[in-house]
Amino acid sequence: MPLQKPLKASQELIQELNRIAVLKRVRDKGPISRADLARETGLSPSAITSLTGALIRRSLIHEKELGVSRKGRRPVLLEFNYGGGILIGVEIEMDKVAIATTNLRGSLLNIQRCPFEDHSPDTVLKKTASLLRNVLEEVRASKISLYGIGVSFPGVVDVQTGACLFWADPGWGYIEVKKSLEADLGLPVLVEEDVRAEALGEFWFGLAQEVSNLVCIRVDNGVGAGVIIDGHLYRGTHNTAGEIGHIMVDPDGARCTCGHVGCLQTKISAPAIVRQAIEGLQHHPESALSGIPPGEITLQKIFDLKKSDPLCQDIFEEVSIFLGIAVATVVNVYDPEMVILTGSVIEQADELLERGKVTETRQVLRTAADKVDIQKSGFGENAGVVGAAALVFHNLISGPRFG
Ligand SMILES: [Zn+2]
Repeated sequence: MPLQKPLKASQELIQELNRIAVLKRVRDKGPISRADLARETGLSPSAITSLTGALIRRSLIHEKELGVSRKGRRPVLLEFNYGGGILIGVEIEMDKVAIATTNLRGSLLNIQRCPFEDHSPDTVLKKTASLLRNVLEEVRASKISLYGIGVSFPGVVDVQTGACLFWADPGWGYIEVKKSLEADLGLPVLVEEDVRAEALGEFWFGLAQEVSNLVCIRVDNGVGAGVIIDGHLYRGTHNTAGEIGHIMVDPDGARCTCGHVGCLQTKISAPAIVRQAIEGLQHHPESALSGIPPGEITLQKIFDLKKSDPLCQDIFEEVSIFLGIAVATVVNVYDPEMVILTGSVIEQADELLERGKVTETRQVLRTAADKVDIQKSGFGENAGVVGAAALVFHNLISGPRFG
């Protein structure tokens, strides 16, 4: 990881650092007294009074109960206010959008899903903005504080501009996701690549809350990894860190949407699995899939037949092997404590993970093989919206400059 450039010290920056330090302490160690906060952070009692006052006014923390006194008055304890506000998480996919509201624990309060009539950027962004306007009206009517809107988006996202630089869907090039939604809503929006948002969701609200080094792998329409190193999201120099879907695994393989040949994505993504089944029918006319029109062959149908149908069995075996290679690769490269898998391919076949682990164990250096914890996300199909909401939480806790 490159050394960070020194940040310019200013009063505003110091205030932000102090605010983050206090908020983190209250979240991790609360209920906690102001005196203990001052001791732990090294800040003066008057600074703590001022910072906690501002956090209470924002409903991020609240006074909970009286603590145990060493002598004299019993101190008032401060606690993180998980119900103090709402986060909005938006997951945009190629063909649909999901919008959820959550509390500050990432627990879902409400969720709605809606398909897009077509895949044009204009339809996707306008439809999303229209649904968001309805959700915002409901939030305003509830009088509960809204802390922000996070949007997870497939493709390569520039987190500074919130633009999608590349999405594999034909006709989609550079898309101003953040600019368009902000102009429509009149509110700031955070945009991040889908799997990175999911990694943050696991880090703040899910299985990886006690973990500092995490890789989240999403296997869906595309394949990618979100990487958290020492508690920081790692995006790389050109926002392409974790693009494991484009690791070449077969020099004679199929053409990938990125233009290259034999990428991992051409082996284990949902469209690749369906394509392999359709192509495989030429050699397996006896397959139960033969009677189904090609346009109706789905991932679920292929996986449902994985035990009884030789074609589906072969495909399932190969997907599990390449999934194992994907996991082994990130373990060898990043040496994480935990790897979490998400996405429709993982959701629809639990055994994939177990089979994949067999390949992974054979390919990982022995020092890490038995120690890395490989799990399926506990959020199921909601991993994307929870991750999008976690973008807002991450920004709230870590501050915009330190995310
Ligand atoms: Zn590729």
